Amino acid sequence: MLDETPDWSRLKRALSIEVEHGFTNLMGRQYRFSEFFTLTFGKFPRSLPRSERLRWQELAEKFSNYPHLKLQDRQHLIAQTRQYIHQLKFQSRVIESNQEAKIIEKDSESDYQYRIQNTKYTTLAYTIPSLSKVTLRHTPRLGQKLQELPKIGVRKAENLACLGLRTIRDLLFYYPRGHIDYASQVNISALRPADTVTIVAIVKRCNFHVSSRNKNLMILEIVLRDNTGQLKISRFFAGARFTSRGWQEVLRSRYPVGSTVAACGLVKRNKYGLTLDNPELEVLAHPGDPLDSLTIGRVVPIYKLTGGVLGSTVRQAIISALPAIVYLQDPLPCGLREKYELMELKDAIYNIHCPTDNELLQQARRRLVFDEFFYLQISILQRRQQAKQTKATAILNSGGHLIDSFSKILPFQLTNSQQRVIKDILKDLQQSTPMNRLVQGDVGSGKTVVAVVAILATLQSGYQAALMAPTEVLAEQHYQKLLSWFNLMCLPVELLTSSTKMLKRKHIHSRLETGELPLVVGTHALIQDTVKFRQLGLVVIDEQHRFGVEQRAKLQQKGEQPHVLTMTATPIPRTLALTIHGDLDVSQIDELPPGRQVIQTTLLSGQQRRYAYDLIRREIVQGRQVYIVFPLIEESETLDLRSAVNEQKRLQEKIFPEFQLGLLHGRMSSSEKEEAISKFRGNQTQILVSTTVVEVGLDISNATVMLIEHSERFGLSQLHQLRGRVGRGTAKSYCLLMNSSKNPDAQQRLKVLEQSQDGFFISEMDMRFRGPGQLLGTQQSGVPDFTLANLVEHEDILMLARQAAQTVIETDSTLEYWCLIKEEFKYRYERLMGGAIMT
Ligand code: ADP
Ligand code: MG
Repeated sequence: MLDETPDWSRLKRALSIEVEHGFTNLMGRQYRFSEFFTLTFGKFPRSLPRSERLRWQELAEKFSNYPHLKLQDRQHLIAQTRQYIHQLKFQSRVIESNQEAKIIEKDSESDYQYRIQNTKYTTLAYTIPSLSKVTLRHTPRLGQKLQELPKIGVRKAENLACLGLRTIRDLLFYYPRGHIDYASQVNISALRPADTVTIVAIVKRCNFHVSSRNKNLMILEIVLRDNTGQLKISRFFAGARFTSRGWQEVLRSRYPVGSTVAACGLVKRNKYGLTLDNPELEVLAHPGDPLDSLTIGRVVPIYKLTGGVLGSTVRQAIISALPAIVYLQDPLPCGLREKYELMELKDAIYNIHCPTDNELLQQARRRLVFDEFFYLQISILQRRQQAKQTKATAILNSGGHLIDSFSKILPFQLTNSQQRVIKDILKDLQQSTPMNRLVQGDVGSGKTVVAVVAILATLQSGYQAALMAPTEVLAEQHYQKLLSWFNLMCLPVELLTSSTKMLKRKHIHSRLETGELPLVVGTHALIQDTVKFRQLGLVVIDEQHRFGVEQRAKLQQKGEQPHVLTMTATPIPRTLALTIHGDLDVSQIDELPPGRQVIQTTLLSGQQRRYAYDLIRREIVQGRQVYIVFPLIEESETLDLRSAVNEQKRLQEKIFPEFQLGLLHGRMSSSEKEEAISKFRGNQTQILVSTTVVEVGLDISNATVMLIEHSERFGLSQLHQLRGRVGRGTAKSYCLLMNSSKNPDAQQRLKVLEQSQDGFFISEMDMRFRGPGQLLGTQQSGVPDFTLANLVEHEDILMLARQAAQTVIETDSTLEYWCLIKEEFKYRYERLMGGAIMT
């Protein structure tokens, strides 16, 4: 009954071949697949722990029954077996490596080494310095609590728990934010502005004081010196707790005079000379710190910390936890790893924390970035798959007389892009699964007509439709446009906003409920509980990024699986789109209707305001109109910014007394807003002074100048939106960006607008400058908090990870087949993503 240890890879290969042949119980040279495994599990290898024997007997039995199993059960059995073999292989490896570790420990006092067989990277010998000082009786287990680690007591464990680190596993997956390469440092005399550098120097002075302007801001100033010169650096600690004496004591003891410090950061010039911008600081030769050799001359990981936890604590804890990587099973199957040239998980974890050299660090980072994207894509694609499985009740027939008569009413020809997108949509509507499509199109590309065609197709099939816009201004505008078209086709449409009168509102509610009213346009008022539809077939959401996820979902729930069409004029870069709504299909309207001209965009400094006012006057004299936009409504105490309310008064009285100036901002009542807009529309006011409420959608074609004050305060995409308010007619139009900041970064950012009118390009640049969170406005962005991955830098890895995730989901979207991936996914879902992306 006893035998040699089986050849695990041979077994795995056999399983793979059977899978590839569709579970047909393949005939091998000697045996059938099922016979081979019945025999294999019928004997116990000598190395098999007794506890496993029962399991082997069970498997032998199951395989003998394999020919009689249904396809699904065969699949299940193979998946189970694969998993099991993986485990066994692992156990034996762990036993081996533990033995090896013990031997080496005896041999060498200074270095603790163990080896892990690595498929692609041959055999790596890992060296963990200083571990000899740590008594390693057992390799730590993944689930083990931190206080059980050597040198980590209850207090340190509590501190680490503040970082969300409770188990060994948590530690291993706590990736550093970056690395300092102490191997390639720079002397102080060689610093140049705009370089990112590491210097190693001695602390000459360390002072701290509370900011004179803000009593909750503590400033730490350290003067560093090396053989070549001297440098003053500052770090800022915002928050009342940092101004306490206790904290000052902590800092004083952290950077004692005479200690060696490594500082890493961006070199900047201020009025006192060169400095490092809020640098990462590491004390290297802290007296009595045994871990100093972990840093000097190495590529050192830098971890995100909170007030009370020291970098050295985290680093030490992670080093002690590292041997546990032998228990890490790589959820990514070998095949995928090879295909995408990924380092094995345990090697990656090892090297991210303890890089042996730069090349391995790069590979480690690549693997872990891949994982961050991969699990996110798994979640997105899984949702998408599930959505595809729900049935849409509405099966709409496209074409028909409504669309025909609409195309006769339209005064223009649809652009090719519009036609293509309409085709996408009509095709979706005919499916029995609900459409979930995002139409991205630059400002003025004509998304509204596209939506109208979708709406008409819906009405044609006897279903109702709803169009939701983020502001009353926009809803009203849509309503007016639709009304003009619908009147000609004898179709009713109503407007529902929070300012709709009670009686009217009740009337609309009841007509929606009976189905008598086929289309309603509105704002958030549409998602009130009292609004019910008889048969809602299509939901259109304009400027969808202005709505939260729940708001969109709420409107959707008013029908039974209605089709959903979302539209946005703030195109987002592809990487971001795939990350936050990879579960949507995306169509792009990538051309503007013919005859649109380029809006001449000019960046102006405060001194050039005269030029702006002259241009405005010239245009108004020729019968044109002007927007002037401010970032704030009223003057604020803390910010020195021009505000809409004050400036409107000043401009009216001092600058443009000969013209009428209107005012529009978010705190006005809706009837006031309506009045302001309609006066501007009718050219009763020539200048509309406003906040960004005009940003989305406002369509007044006689306006030719857009002046934006403090433009450095806005994102590029938002400025592009604002600019889109002009150039809507045939006349030449201008966008003037006032930039009062001297910050060269702001200048450079704004230059993008001078050079480009392409919304996609602009949003890409916006993301580069400000990061994805900023681009979307964090609270509803749903951009997950990646540790290593970066949407700007890692687009290629994202695409690969998406492809890999697709392979996995296509094989089995429930992930039963990929149980390790499923487990890992669950772990990440609970820990790393904090639910942000799972909405
Ligand atoms: P957006 O995509 O910014 O929502 P709109 O749908 O408001 O753009 O369209 C902007 C303007 O262009 C509207 O006045 C609309 O009637 C007009 N328009 C739309 N499509 C075309 C076209 N194919 N040719 C000419 N004008 C068009
Ligand atoms: Mg629009």
